[in-house]
Amino acid sequence: MNAWQSKMTDIVDAHVHMGPSAEEAVALDIQKAIGVDKTVLVSIQNPANGSGLPQSLYMKARHPDRFYVFAGLNHGEKLSEGRVRTPSLVEQLEGFVAMGCDGIKMIEGKPTSRQMMDIPVTDPYFADYWARVEELGTPIVWHVNDPEEFWNPELLPAWARKQGWGYGPNDVKKEQLYAEVDEVLARHPKLRIVFAHFYFLSADLPRAARFFDAHPTVHFDLTPGVEMLYNMSRNPDATRAFFLKYADRIVFGTDIMSRNTIEEAIFRAGIVFRWLESEDTFRVPKGADFLLGQPEDGIVHGLALPDEVLTKIYRGNITRLAGDAPRPLDVGRAIAECTRIGAIAQGMSNTPAEDTEAVLVARKLEALA
Ligand SMILES: [Zn+2]
Repeated sequence: MNAWQSKMTDIVDAHVHMGPSAEEAVALDIQKAIGVDKTVLVSIQNPANGSGLPQSLYMKARHPDRFYVFAGLNHGEKLSEGRVRTPSLVEQLEGFVAMGCDGIKMIEGKPTSRQMMDIPVTDPYFADYWARVEELGTPIVWHVNDPEEFWNPELLPAWARKQGWGYGPNDVKKEQLYAEVDEVLARHPKLRIVFAHFYFLSADLPRAARFFDAHPTVHFDLTPGVEMLYNMSRNPDATRAFFLKYADRIVFGTDIMSRNTIEEAIFRAGIVFRWLESEDTFRVPKGADFLLGQPEDGIVHGLALPDEVLTKIYRGNITRLAGDAPRPLDVGRAIAECTRIGAIAQGMSNTPAEDTEAVLVARKLEALA
């Protein structure tokens, strides 16, 4: 069976990437095709080309009850060594909240981010920001780390190598990244964080349990990383017990991108739905997107979770963090933000601001207002 649909309703997909605003119709078609009611757009900024956040703001403006926006930080000033100016991280955070963003997306903690900007999250650069996020209670979807096999050239999957996700002796180590998060959480124990991809602890559920017990305000999302499903399928009984015990801490997400085809999106979401809901033993279908690898890579054992647990994973936990409905967008503030992002991109890359996604979105938002 290929097109596996959920039996549940009112599902929130808490981890989706929006491409250019021109993909608006596709993003809506995907939402409908996979049977999801609301979507969290996790919006990593690319300061050099002005994309990432603007198109998510556009979706929120156009479809206010359908899209939450978790905004990524703009590190243009650090990345350009001061050539361009960006507001402080606290000012950025406060601006996002004021314009109606629902949370923050971070990828500072993925080894590739560290290759681009070698500033640990424990650095003074982040200090005031962490304090203010904790104070405001703003939820964060945070990608920290990567699967352990990405540090081992012999085990690195081909699809990961293609993305440049293989790490060597000069890269930050997995345990170092965990230690930095531990230090941030020790300083700011009330941070409300959803760690993406099960925090890459799917091969070690006892450790995941210790982490949850030590940090009552953190959560994990279930976005593949297909290795997550294979790891947790090795001992389905232990996995099921973990999911029942920590049902309040687990959040559904797919990592769908609006550039995926509808078929790829259906496969991607369907794999997670089928894993959570059925008792089936199955493989990734042929035709799934390349980041899910090949059918022969592994076997998934369904968890057959009860409806009350599914309800928490599909909706309850993320809406407790981000609200029952997306916050309304202040279009005027969004236009100003997109214009500023476009100017930063121009300063960093010499692309005229008018040619960036940011300014394109600003123009589209002006036409709506
Ligand atoms: Zn993602």
